[in-house]
Amino acid sequence: MTFYCPLCDFNSEGMWTLKRHFNASHNKGYCPICKRKYNNLLSHVVGVVRYKSDLKHLILFYLITKRNRTKMFKIARELAYEYLQDKNFKF
Ligand SMILES: [Zn+2]
Ligand SMILES: [Zn+2]
Repeated sequence: MTFYCPLCDFNSEGMWTLKRHFNASHNKGYCPICKRKYNNLLSHVVGVVRYKSDLKHLILFYLITKRNRTKMFKIARELAYEYLQDKNFKF
């Protein structure tokens, strides 16, 4: 199973490696979906997904959060595993 970064050409056999790559390379106070800067990207993303179940923000939420037991994380993880296997899926 190969997972593809939704922002660049990186790919990995492991989701954990992709998450580590994403946080090191792309978690820089900028939302690639809204194309706007945010002081706290995570709180922006949580705000969006609470307001509407936006697919791309849910996957971004999965990529930038640590594993947790919330229902939102569970939904986000399922979507991430499905969509990040498609190398044509981009933010
Ligand atoms: Zn990347
Ligand atoms: Zn956004």
